[in-house]
Amino acid sequence: MLEFHKKGFDVQKIFKQAWEKIKNSDNIVLIAHINPDGDALGSSLSLYPVLKKMGKKVSVFNVTKPLPMYLDFLPNFEKIVNKLPKKIDLMISFDCGSFDRFGIDERPSFLINIDHHISNTKYGDMNIIDANAASSSQVVYNMLKENQVKIDKNSALCIYTALVTDTGSFQYESVNEKVFLMAADLVSCGVKPEFVAKMLFQRDRLSRLRLLAKAYDTIELCCEGKVAFVEVTKEMMEITGAIKDDTDTIVNSVRAIASVEVACMLREDDEGIKISLRSKNYADVSKVAVKYGGGGHIRAAGATIKDEFDFNKVKEMIKNDLNKSLKVKK
Ligand code: 5GP
Ligand code: MN
Repeated sequence: MLEFHKKGFDVQKIFKQAWEKIKNSDNIVLIAHINPDGDALGSSLSLYPVLKKMGKKVSVFNVTKPLPMYLDFLPNFEKIVNKLPKKIDLMISFDCGSFDRFGIDERPSFLINIDHHISNTKYGDMNIIDANAASSSQVVYNMLKENQVKIDKNSALCIYTALVTDTGSFQYESVNEKVFLMAADLVSCGVKPEFVAKMLFQRDRLSRLRLLAKAYDTIELCCEGKVAFVEVTKEMMEITGAIKDDTDTIVNSVRAIASVEVACMLREDDEGIKISLRSKNYADVSKVAVKYGGGGHIRAAGATIKDEFDFNKVKEMIKNDLNKSLKVKK
């Protein structure tokens, strides 16, 4: 199995192999995970113009309906479908750590898995997983560059948006010189950073702010102030008229509390409690998420604890999981 940053891994070779496979396939599906974020949709849509130009039949698929409206400015957003075509020669997946997060039953005849989650289960026939990449779109960008593919304005906008959303606007430790060089290159392809910022961050919903107010009221600090919990109940969502997308960044702002190393949002969902974990400096939250059947990155991970609806019970479980790595005195 080829994997980045392992001895003997030949990045150029796998990018070339992937491109050969793409060139030799006619009916291609671009797919990302359920409840997609900017990286999931940005990465999927970034290849759409490229493949269309090559004369391919391309479908961009996502199981989630409705799709997050804050991403509706991405070129070809309106072309995303939630029904798979009958004929599929090749499926390319983006930003998805495990096969069960696509919301599809059948495996395609060939699957290229492009991702940057450390917890990726390598479910593809070809796995291009770079856990050091700032976004899955950076892996796509590297693949296009390696194969001397021209990146047009629409693709660049998708790749850049994915990068902005997955780095918290260039704040996280994944941000390095390569990331800025890539961003600069994308700007030279026609991306306007101010436009992306306005689309992403200046079209807020009042219902989201009302939900934030209610959720912030539930913040609870524990483990010597190193852990913070925040709750989102169905009732809060109903009263404020908020939708699931409105809960996306709550956990990030709770992590911003000075003493906090790990922030955890608990959201009441139909199937159980969805946990979203964020760490600041040293705790590995992907391990905790994996324990509950989820996954993610070292500093951002999530899981759904199925058929469990008791917030206090889940908080105790997470505290126990974190106590050791946070070196909290008992
Ligand atoms: P969030 O907490 O915002 O839902 O997700 C944080 C990170 O963890 C994202 O990279 C997301 O893809 C991943 N993640 C969230 N929930 C799950 C899950 O249930 N399973 C897996 N494999 N990854 C998840
Ligand atoms: Mn991502």
